[in-house]
Amino acid sequence: MRLATFDDGRVGVVRGDEIVDVTDLVDSAPGHGGRSVMRTLIGRWETVRATITDLDGRTAVPLSSVRLRAPVPDPTKIVAAPVNYVDHMNEMSETAHVSSLGVFLKAPSSLLDPGGVIRLPYHDRRFDQEGELAFVIGRTARNVSVEDALDYVFGYTGLLDITMRGGEDRSVRKSFDTFTPLGPWLVTPDEAGAPDDVELACSVSGRLRQKANTSELIWGVARLLAYASSVMTLEAGDVVTTGTPAGVGPVEDGDTVELSLSGIGVLRVGVCASGATACPTNGRGAGPVPPPPPPR
Ligand code: MN
Repeated sequence: MRLATFDDGRVGVVRGDEIVDVTDLVDSAPGHGGRSVMRTLIGRWETVRATITDLDGRTAVPLSSVRLRAPVPDPTKIVAAPVNYVDHMNEMSETAHVSSLGVFLKAPSSLLDPGGVIRLPYHDRRFDQEGELAFVIGRTARNVSVEDALDYVFGYTGLLDITMRGGEDRSVRKSFDTFTPLGPWLVTPDEAGAPDDVELACSVSGRLRQKANTSELIWGVARLLAYASSVMTLEAGDVVTTGTPAGVGPVEDGDTVELSLSGIGVLRVGVCASGATACPTNGRGAGPVPPPPPPR
């Protein structure tokens, strides 16, 4: 099943190029609180699932007539793997990867809707695209074993981990508002298939920059989830992103970034630099050394 958040936070089932609004089915469940409809749906999936599967008689509208939003607009956290492909470790001249670095956090306020625009904050720094497979947690996970880990995945989606290069802390360089485009929707594991065989392609303004298969991940989804749950309690709706393969490069004003994941979908966003100012921190030239910009 493909589940999307759209318009003012409504939730729908995506079927082909149409979407069926099921918000009322989720809202009928008690315990809504202040959470998004999608987080409520995920938290009550066991009871909501049967209702939501029977869509007979419900109206479908064209996907093009709605505005897709980040599928989970309010995760309690976004957990990310720093270096999780060998080819990306090499292009960054890094000697350490996930097994010695662990994970880091991106601010949930950095989320961006599909079709949104990445706002570059500074005119004197380099900002790169990082295309990644992400997954969303289905139920509270703490000290989960690798063997059980996939039972805690609610669904898969695309994530762009937009990154300022330099010596500042990762949590700063990757947490500017709009730096985490997410989507286009969540695909449940029964439909997405094995998470260790997803074809990833990421292009910038029509030029292919990244092409990989998630079989190349140093820590696959199960191991990453198990590890993250040994550090912090993962809540339903939390987002975990698996890291990016080789091919990162600068994005600039006017660019379009497109991330395609087989069995999941395409996430497309724009880039804007208007209003960019001088960077107030001086980490430029420090930190891991990124590869030279690719041809345009
Ligand atoms: Mn990344």
